[in-house]
Amino acid sequence: MTDPIVGARIWLPEAALQGLIDQLRASGYEVVGPRVADGAVTLVEVTSISEMPRGVRDEQEPGKYRLTVIEGAGLFDHVVGPHSLKPYLFPPRTTVLEVLKIRDSWDARVPEPPRPKRAVIGVRSCDLHALAIQDRVFLGGQHRDPEYAARREGLFLIAVNCSRSAPTCFCVSMNTGPKVDGGADLVLTELNTGFVVEVGTEKGGEVLRGLDIRESTLAEFAEATEVPQRAASQQTRRINLATVHDTLINNLEHPRWEDVAKRCLSCANCTMVCPTCFCSTVNEVTDLAGDVTTRERVWESCFNEEHSWTGSGAAHPTTKSRYRQWLTHKLATWVDQFGSSGCVGCGRCITWCPVGIDITEEVAAIEAKGGVA
Ligand code: SF4
Ligand code: SF4
Repeated sequence: MTDPIVGARIWLPEAALQGLIDQLRASGYEVVGPRVADGAVTLVEVTSISEMPRGVRDEQEPGKYRLTVIEGAGLFDHVVGPHSLKPYLFPPRTTVLEVLKIRDSWDARVPEPPRPKRAVIGVRSCDLHALAIQDRVFLGGQHRDPEYAARREGLFLIAVNCSRSAPTCFCVSMNTGPKVDGGADLVLTELNTGFVVEVGTEKGGEVLRGLDIRESTLAEFAEATEVPQRAASQQTRRINLATVHDTLINNLEHPRWEDVAKRCLSCANCTMVCPTCFCSTVNEVTDLAGDVTTRERVWESCFNEEHSWTGSGAAHPTTKSRYRQWLTHKLATWVDQFGSSGCVGCGRCITWCPVGIDITEEVAAIEAKGGVA
């Protein structure tokens, strides 16, 4: 009997993936995985591998996303879609306070954060790096976010090494993929009839016990090693991590900011799909009878003018200043603030921008005409 200890490389036949899902569900986990909905591969609850996107490939380009079905392709032949782990840890809308009128007085309650046990199948390397960034934002420093912490505690992560890159991916240049380099309980690499599974944590090994598994052969391991290498070799977009900080900071008046502002709709799509963007605002909503007031934290975007309102007006009143704020934060001041880039090269902001603005192209244009001053 194979012992799936941490570091072990296991062979999991494709049919046994269902056993893994069943085992997780029996242990109380809600299982989330890739599933086609509304014309995209989303991350939602799955109970069976028959619900997963077999043979589905995504064609991605700036401002474009299409699905096609390829004969003989696998369960994980798609790349990243519009969803990431972000909404499962930092939901778009959270109630942070409820104030109830009880007779002639008011009772204020802070709701207990939910503590879901959730297993996510199909997480990619860039998204694990994005998770590490969000962990630093929400759990590092003096102020831990209780909602995020409660959701993070129950998270079980089954990552997948990408077998292909979309033309919009640039994780290689950001040192964030496509090979998973940590942060998951289990890491799958899909081959023709099953998966090579690397056991990342004891919890990961535990759920494999009792399944139809064996140690993977050297040939299977060698084949699995080539899978993310192939994906890496397909990437054409890149950002120069060594120079991008100074390039942006030294070119705040570059004419390219005006140029991109003419194309940008300030729609905020890029910040909504970005797995690292974490801005929020607080709204207070009162019911019609005036008996219940709810304070909600909702996602906010630096592309909205109100986001930068201060006592004397908006700090970023124009699209130019908002785009510049977003890009310089992602790739430059984020490094000063948190010690790493705020971008993991997932390419979502490129694909889901309705006018196809490409973060790598904007940086390259500033670099070409400005350079490091
Ligand atoms: S800025 Fe764009 S490419 Fe970078 S992490 Fe966010 S969505 Fe992905
Ligand atoms: S860069 Fe694209 S996605 Fe982002 S706000 Fe502008 S138009 Fe919208």
